[in-house]
Amino acid sequence: MNDPDFSIVDNLARVRERMNAALERSGRNPGDALLVVVTKTQDIEQIRRVINAGATDIGENYIQEAEEKYSVIGDAVRWHFIGHLQKNKARHAVRIFDTIQSVDSLELAREIGRRAVAAERAVNVLIEVNVSQEETKFGVYPEGALALAERVAAFEGLRICGFMGMAPFARDPEESRPYFRQLKRLWDKLPEEQRRFLSMGMTGDYEVALEEGSNMVRIGTAVFGPRNA
Ligand SMILES: *Cc1c(COP(=O)(O)O)cnc(C)c1O
Repeated sequence: MNDPDFSIVDNLARVRERMNAALERSGRNPGDALLVVVTKTQDIEQIRRVINAGATDIGENYIQEAEEKYSVIGDAVRWHFIGHLQKNKARHAVRIFDTIQSVDSLELAREIGRRAVAAERAVNVLIEVNVSQEETKFGVYPEGALALAERVAAFEGLRICGFMGMAPFARDPEESRPYFRQLKRLWDKLPEEQRRFLSMGMTGDYEVALEEGSNMVRIGTAVFGPRNA
């Protein structure tokens, strides 16, 4: 049972099963949501294991860590940036990431677009919405999210694909539900061509997020076990 290949295969299968059950509860079909496996702090071997087990999309929080991994793994998977991006790292980010999920200002979006054009890439971006309006969290407040999306949509080099959000930490996933519901309502107001992804749900609350309309979950712990601090 301590074979690491086995446990990752097993964990991934269990997550997919639970995702599909939650999708069915929300009137959708199995496979209607994308699983982004969050690989921050995991080493190359773990990433290889999860790719072998069928992961197609991975999420990283730090540029330097991602650069080291990308130099080995390359384009065998799609890369999602889910951490806080500083403007001066945008140039590095556009070389690695297919999707940057944490765009929360016009200035950052402009820089990503500029760097993407220079690198002859087109980057998918999600607007990060601070749906719980916690001061400790990044993201644009809900009242500014649609306006930001509209302005960012005019930039070259990037493509707005929806929203990303997080609920406040809670032991009971039911406490996340109202936040997910609110973000889904806001997402529904985006123009259709920007309504591709609603990224919400992590290990502790992805089933509730899917029940509320998420179509992209970001999961680390349920696949790899607890991260070492
Ligand atoms: C770390 C992280 C995750 C994954 O969290 P788990 O609880 O390990 O599933 C998801 N989203 C973001 C933005 C993260 O930073």
